[in-house]
Amino acid sequence: MLSRRKLIQSIGLAAAGFATADRESKASQMPGRPAAAESGQNPASPSSIMAIAAHPGDAFFSMGLPVALQTHLGARGALLSLTAGEKGSRTVAPPDYGRQQRAAGERAAEMLAATAVTLDYPDGELPHSDDVKLAICDLIRKHRPDVIVTHWSGSWHKDHRASHEIVLDAVFYAALPALARKDSAHSVRKVLFADNWEDATGFSGDTYLDVSPVFDHWTEACAVFPMWRGETGFRYRDYYTSLAIARGCLGGFNRAVALICQPEQLMRKLTAL
Ligand SMILES: [Zn+2]
Repeated sequence: MLSRRKLIQSIGLAAAGFATADRESKASQMPGRPAAAESGQNPASPSSIMAIAAHPGDAFFSMGLPVALQTHLGARGALLSLTAGEKGSRTVAPPDYGRQQRAAGERAAEMLAATAVTLDYPDGELPHSDDVKLAICDLIRKHRPDVIVTHWSGSWHKDHRASHEIVLDAVFYAALPALARKDSAHSVRKVLFADNWEDATGFSGDTYLDVSPVFDHWTEACAVFPMWRGETGFRYRDYYTSLAIARGCLGGFNRAVALICQPEQLMRKLTAL
């Protein structure tokens, strides 16, 4: 009987790093949309990556491993938090906690050889507006990532649900040449949705990424955040380290993250079976 692990490997959904697709795939891309499918078999270089999250904890704990892997492979990496998550502490006042979160994000990103960007939108009140979409569009055009990792849609958290939709629209705006901004248009090749304890509704990973080489280093970077140790009530360290082990069991790696591709990116074009 074909095991789930063998099935994942046999249909090519297990991955050991993202890599730039070939030119043919890019040329057939619709304006404003990520590429339809991977067709490059022998990628030339690792893909640059940007995590875009509602809060720094999401960026580093839920989306940080793919970023750590890509920078380890030599690509550029950025972790964008739309808010500082300043209302996340029961004991520290929001202005102070926001400063701590920003400082922790900068330090953790530096440890991962990535760039941290934290915007000023209010935690818990992330506006679902064109202003936010265009601000992210500008950052996508500035950092020019090949791959974006962001929130899955099935979340109980309003900022996370808003981020999911905002980011998809920002990717669309970033790729539109006719939309004049400071930097020129940029097409993101792949958008992936991350495994997050708060975004678990309907989450069923279709891509397993081998993050074994960077797992230990990533845990050291996450430990910069007090919330990683459970100080805000949820056991982030236990959850996300266990999750990487569990996903590794399913994906056939020592440590892994599960991701969801946009449906059109999973499309395969064959001339014979
Ligand atoms: Zn969050």
